[in-house]
Amino acid sequence: MLPAQQAEDLILSLVKPLNAQQNCEMIDLLAASGRILAESVIGQLDFPHWDNSAMDGYAVRFDDVQACTAESPAVLQVIEEIPAGYVPQKTVQAGQAARILTGSMMPAGADTVVIQEVTKREGDRLSILSAPQPQAFVRHRATFYQSGTPLLPAGLTLSAPEIAVLAAAQCTQVKVYRRPRVAILSTGSELVEPDQPLQPGQIVDSNQYALAALVAQSGAEPLLLGIVPDHPEALKGAIANAISTADLVLSSGGVSVGDYDYVDRILADLGAQLHIRAVAVKPGKPLTVATFQKNQTSESAVPLLYFGLPGNPVSALVSFWRFVQPALRKLSGQPDGWRPVFVEGRSLYPLKSDGKRESYLWGKLRLTNGAYEFHLATGSHSSGNLINLAQTNALAVVPVGQTLIPAGDSVQIMQVGSPCR
Ligand code: AMP
Ligand code: MG
Repeated sequence: MLPAQQAEDLILSLVKPLNAQQNCEMIDLLAASGRILAESVIGQLDFPHWDNSAMDGYAVRFDDVQACTAESPAVLQVIEEIPAGYVPQKTVQAGQAARILTGSMMPAGADTVVIQEVTKREGDRLSILSAPQPQAFVRHRATFYQSGTPLLPAGLTLSAPEIAVLAAAQCTQVKVYRRPRVAILSTGSELVEPDQPLQPGQIVDSNQYALAALVAQSGAEPLLLGIVPDHPEALKGAIANAISTADLVLSSGGVSVGDYDYVDRILADLGAQLHIRAVAVKPGKPLTVATFQKNQTSESAVPLLYFGLPGNPVSALVSFWRFVQPALRKLSGQPDGWRPVFVEGRSLYPLKSDGKRESYLWGKLRLTNGAYEFHLATGSHSSGNLINLAQTNALAVVPVGQTLIPAGDSVQIMQVGSPCR
C-alpha cells in the first residue's frame, strides 16, 4: 500500500500534458470561460490606443500655464469641446485650450491636462488658477501595453479578468486546448441506471453521475460508457473500447480483492502497466492506476492513464478529488497548480480514525473571522454512506498513527470546493 503523497507524486509523474499543437481548437471568446490558452496571445492594439485624458478638464500647452497662480491666472481661449468618442478637429495653439472629458483623445498641440476644479470659465474664456505638473493627467499611447508584444501567456486558464483583456484587445477568437476526453464506466452486476426501476438486490449507479459532474467541473469532457456487469469478457470489451476513445479512463468498482473483482487482471491482459493497486487512505484504499502506451509507432506517444476507482460512492469521490483531479489538471494543459490545496484550520468536532491509514473525513470548511473552521458532516463516515456527503467542500485529514484529533485542535484540511462564510 502506497502512502498518499507517494501515490500523488507517482500519478503526476505518469501524466504527460496534451500537446498544445495537436490538441487545440479556436473558440469564441464568449465560450472561453474556464478554458486554457494553447498559445500566447499577441495583441494588435496599443493600450491606451491614443493619448487621452485621465480627468475632466482642459487640454493645454504646459508652457502657457506653468507659472500661473490664483492671483495671476493664465487666461486661455477655449477652441473646442472634446467629448468621449470625438476626434479633435483643431490644434491647440499658444494661448488656447480645449475642453476635454475623461478618456477623450488629446488634441494636437496640447501636452497637459488641467483639472476643471482649478479653472474658472466664462464663455470661451478660461482662467487657470493653479499650475499643473508637465504632462499631468495625460495617459500616453502604449504606456500600458505595446502592440506586438505578448499580452497573455499560453497555459493561462481564462476567467473574467483575462476575458476582459482579450475582449479589449479585440481577440474574439482564442486558441485553447481541447478538453480532455474522460471515459467513465461503472462495473458491477448489481448496478442499475438511476432512471430505471430498482429490483431487490440491485444498487443504483450513482458513481457515473457523480464522476461525470466532477469531470465536467474539472474542465474535461465526460464520455459516459454505462454499466458493465462483472463478466470478464464484457469488461474486457468495455475497457478496450474506453481506452481507444479517451485520453483518460475512470472505472469504478471491481478493483478490490473480491471474487468478482476482475479489473486489474483485465488491464494486465490488455497490455497495461500497473503502477498502483492500493493506497494507504481511508476511504479509497483499493485504487488501481495503470497506463497504456498509445500510438506506439508515433513520435508523440502519449501514455493513457487508467484509474480503477473503488466502487463505494464516497471512496470513488474522495479518490477522484485526491488523485484524479491533479492528473486531469496536468493533462489538460495547466502549467502548474495541479496538486490538491490543503489549508490549516481548527476542527469544531473530534475527528476519529483507526490510525492505520490516512483518513479523510468529509464536511464543511468555513472561513470565520479570517480563520478556517472545519465542521464534520453529521452521520456515519462509512465509505458506503453517501447520504451525508451533500454540501461537502472539504476533507479533514487524520494522519497515519493518529486515532483522534480532539475538537478545537488544528488539522490539515483538503479543499474540494470554495469555503463558505
Ligand atoms: P466494489 O468496489 O465493486 O467492491 O464495490 C463496493 C461497493 O460499492 C458495493 O457495495 C457496490 O455495490 C458499490 N458500488 C459499486 N459501484 C457502484 C456505483 N457505480 N454506484 C454506486 N455504488 C456502487
Ligand atoms: Mg463490484
